[in-house]
Amino acid sequence: MTNSVNDRNDALMERARRVIPGGVNSPVRAFRAVGGTPRFIQRAQGAYLWDANDQRCIDYIGSWGPMILGHGHPAVLEAVRRAAQDGLSFGAPTEREVELAEEILSLMPSMDMVRLVSSGTEAGMSAIRLARGATGRSKIIKFEGCYHGHADALLVKAGSGLATFGNPTSAGVPPEVVQHTLVLEYNNLTQLEEAFALHGRELACLIIEPIAGNMNFVRASLDFVRRCRELCTQYGALLIYDEVMTGFRTALGGVQSLHAKAIAGFAPDITVMGKVIGGGMPLAAFGGKRDVMEQLAPLGPVYQAGTLSGNPVATACGLATLREIRKPGFFEALSARTRALVDGLQTAAQELGVPFCADSEGGLFGFFLLPRLPQNYREVMQSDAARFNRFFHSLLSRGVYVAPALYEASFVSAAHSEDDIAATLQAARAAFRELA
Ligand code: PMP
Repeated sequence: MTNSVNDRNDALMERARRVIPGGVNSPVRAFRAVGGTPRFIQRAQGAYLWDANDQRCIDYIGSWGPMILGHGHPAVLEAVRRAAQDGLSFGAPTEREVELAEEILSLMPSMDMVRLVSSGTEAGMSAIRLARGATGRSKIIKFEGCYHGHADALLVKAGSGLATFGNPTSAGVPPEVVQHTLVLEYNNLTQLEEAFALHGRELACLIIEPIAGNMNFVRASLDFVRRCRELCTQYGALLIYDEVMTGFRTALGGVQSLHAKAIAGFAPDITVMGKVIGGGMPLAAFGGKRDVMEQLAPLGPVYQAGTLSGNPVATACGLATLREIRKPGFFEALSARTRALVDGLQTAAQELGVPFCADSEGGLFGFFLLPRLPQNYREVMQSDAARFNRFFHSLLSRGVYVAPALYEASFVSAAHSEDDIAATLQAARAAFRELA
């Protein structure tokens, strides 16, 4: 995937910039962090993408998570084709929505009910409103480096101390809108205790990515999530697990299934989901216990709605995807393949003397050009961005496409073969050599 004088990616980017802000419809696609021209994708199949120059690369982005089966899975395509034939959207209930809801609930025991929406942003925003409505409280806790979509109240960075609330991270978000959002350091037990001691009785909820894929890959420690659970229960706040990225990706039951195995009786109150549940179509969801979910309109006072919510083509795509990933052995195979990649990268870096660390869970992985895995946003940001950018371009020029920013996770699909992993490791060895 090399750029040439007659590069169609360059030409398309120039055209795009005239009509779309920054040339893209979601900022990370613009390669602003890593520099260079983004690849315009014309088609995809299995583990591969082809750009506007018809150059092939191994895809470790998978549309930022949804494409867990790889691109163009025959069962998914067939389901989508059939659904489209029957109608693109009705704005009325369908049997398939019920089926998808039943499927999700059967895999996620913490939820009794679920509502379908169209994006992770919508799901996160609605979950917060629901928590506020259900508790009658306003304040929320989020963690620095966790992303829950671009709803105003969640675009917040830490304020100057625990007694003060956050500052907007985006222009256009009035300070009054984030005045109830408290931003804490991820994995910091002392801050957590202090925040609940100060504000516990006013807290509607605590929202967390249980593995933070928006800091590349940082696990919340078991002690930390245990304490989050205990404090929420003690103070009557709701614990929200944002599993938009990790749900049906790290394990069939999400990270919460791993936490439930490690911590007796563990369950979040509300779960936010997206990405894999739509299999590549716009679909997301939030769900939880019946008494909380019944606060939603039309049953309860918390309003939430959507013209395309539960869209018949998206639900068909999601259902077909979930039916594939729940087959016996699916996650074992995906996890092993992802582990092989991560271990191979680690070995190669070590052999070539490049400080490097990596981690994975299921088909989600992350890596850092750091000697040990970071525990919070501050530590992630100690990564050398210029070095990461060189590594990224070195891989891309060899046909390996990982996330174009050092704070983003990457994704392996069931379509990635042993040969793809071997080819990736070969490219990585060359890239490490350039860095060493
Ligand atoms: N939550 C998490 C954990 C996410 O990773 C994302 C998107 N990357 C979102 C919420 C927002 O989802 P969407 O982009 O579908 O609005």
